[in-house]
Amino acid sequence: MKARYLTKSRFKLALECPTKLFYANKPEYVNQKIEDPFLLALADGGFQVGELAKCYFPGGYEIRTLDYAEALEQTNDLLKKDHVIIYEAAIRFENLFIRADILVKNKYHFELFEVKAKSFDGDSDAAFYNKNGSISSTWKPYLADVAFQKHVIQHAFPGYTVSAHLMMANKNALCPTDGLNQKFKITKDEDGRKKVMVSSKLAAEDLAEKILTKIKVDSCCTFIYTEDFNVGTQPGTFEEYVNFLADHYAKDKKIISQPTVNCGDCEFKATDSELEQDLKSGFHECWKENLGWKDKDFKDSTIFEIWNFRRKERCLHEGKIKITDISRDDINPRADGRQGISASERQWLQVTKAQGKDMSYWIDWENLYQEMRNWVYPLHFIDFETTMVAIPFNKGRYPYEGIAFQFSHHVVHEDGRIEHRGHYLNAVPGVFPNYDFIRRLKKELSEDQGSIFRYAAHENTYLNLIYRQLMQDTNDIPDRESLCGFIRTITHSVESSDDHWEGNRSMIDMCELVKRYYYDPATKGSNSIKQVLPAILNSSQFLQRKYADPIYGADDGIPSMNYKEWQWIKFIDGRVLDPYKLLPNMFQDISEKDFDLLLSDSNELRDGGAALTAYARMQFEEMSEYERSEIQKALLQYCELDTLAMVMIYEGWQDLINQAKG
Ligand code: SF4
Repeated sequence: MKARYLTKSRFKLALECPTKLFYANKPEYVNQKIEDPFLLALADGGFQVGELAKCYFPGGYEIRTLDYAEALEQTNDLLKKDHVIIYEAAIRFENLFIRADILVKNKYHFELFEVKAKSFDGDSDAAFYNKNGSISSTWKPYLADVAFQKHVIQHAFPGYTVSAHLMMANKNALCPTDGLNQKFKITKDEDGRKKVMVSSKLAAEDLAEKILTKIKVDSCCTFIYTEDFNVGTQPGTFEEYVNFLADHYAKDKKIISQPTVNCGDCEFKATDSELEQDLKSGFHECWKENLGWKDKDFKDSTIFEIWNFRRKERCLHEGKIKITDISRDDINPRADGRQGISASERQWLQVTKAQGKDMSYWIDWENLYQEMRNWVYPLHFIDFETTMVAIPFNKGRYPYEGIAFQFSHHVVHEDGRIEHRGHYLNAVPGVFPNYDFIRRLKKELSEDQGSIFRYAAHENTYLNLIYRQLMQDTNDIPDRESLCGFIRTITHSVESSDDHWEGNRSMIDMCELVKRYYYDPATKGSNSIKQVLPAILNSSQFLQRKYADPIYGADDGIPSMNYKEWQWIKFIDGRVLDPYKLLPNMFQDISEKDFDLLLSDSNELRDGGAALTAYARMQFEEMSEYERSEIQKALLQYCELDTLAMVMIYEGWQDLINQAKG
């Protein structure tokens, strides 16, 4: 039987909630997190950052085996040397076990480097502290992780000193050469396991300017060692806490935790259909054990569903968990003087509908109609796919700079005609796409003065970002001024901008319109387009009739660049199926479950997880031309559906308004 050690990832999990240790890695329990570490490292650039960090410590030995005993034996052999650098060193102390990213031994002193796929602005640990001297909650998980590793090394080698560091991308460092990010590619080894291959062309000049920074965190570790931790029901030291976790994990004993607001996002919560398949739900177990809930209680809506509700913690503390427990005073709905409903009025609307078991949609049709009257035809609906690449493409660029690699564009004419007007996708390995992207967007949107729609803030944020990149770029860009001028006309400046503007054609945010004028209980309080689209498809007879026919991409139907005679409406159990579920998995080698998680808006990679993963794979994985073209086809289809979804919401609103007007 495999040893049950408390590893650094299990320690981090226990910091979120110690009960999770019991559910983790048990196939009978549902886990809604993407579990493939390579997939996650690919999307956030973790694999590149980790490998680049090793290049800054040349001459080290890598422990490759995943077997605990073998890894310990190989590490201990190497540690017989007075001076040695080890990557993925294995260290064990009693039931605690770590793999240190980089461990440097100099006689009786160890230096530990924990590499994080994260960007950092600063040169000391001061940024990790709040003004009151406590450690910032943003940095706490990373620092606690290093403190845990330092603790293990110190106890495994009591006669030695240890200093600990975090290593992260330096936000202000400029990449010294062109093409650096293409020198870290992913291949498969003989056993089919994925690994990172560093190009033989990596030269000294590539590493001359270090784009990763090392921050000494010994004082943060000391701070953490002196904090109080919950050891069961008692306060205890860091060491007592670690031993408590390790002991329970070794014996596979559940640590009972009181429900908190974090339970709402617990990854061990099974869906109804997973429960029907007899899969276990850690969430259900916790709540039955701690709150005495019965199966029927889980059918009721809870306060976790209330959109943007800031008083969750207080309500939970007062024992108000179901929406039926919530009173008007808990929400305190108040108008904010603007058209449509305020945030608190929307919350109260959600609560009253849930309390009254009223599943009908709500629309402020008069005010929405007023808004629509100001729109200028043809209407343009756009959506971007973006990512942040850890190691820059070109010399002079910063780590984790924003990359805009894809857009889709639908047009609705005044007479009701719809067309998929255009798309852009540039995933050519090693090519920085942003300027080409903005040139294409400008061309498509400059043919008329029609209103432009986005869904949420993302498109405005990225256009501001490209604006800054253009303004700061020292290369000769002949059309810089016209591109920047275009961006200013269709955006408003972001808060962090030195320069302030509001474009005369500034994009209209459909998500804001949803928040002010439309609510459907089927969305369970989420305003994500992935929830709003299926909801409106179920409410609008017009949409159901129109898209039940295969008119999309048909010769005499709606022109499409990526679909042929597509039928968007399919029913399952009397409800319209989510159109995203009609599209195929983008990747052959990723499970349906992981792909669904990549697509969902609650995954760790945020919305667009599938697209940015596809982009990263096309940049850094070896693949055949066939695989590449299949992924590109899928990316184009998904992005087209993103803008079609906006069009459908627009058409759905028109239908609901017409019904209201009679
Ligand atoms: S449901 Fe709550 S208490 Fe149970 S494991 Fe999840 S977060 Fe912890």
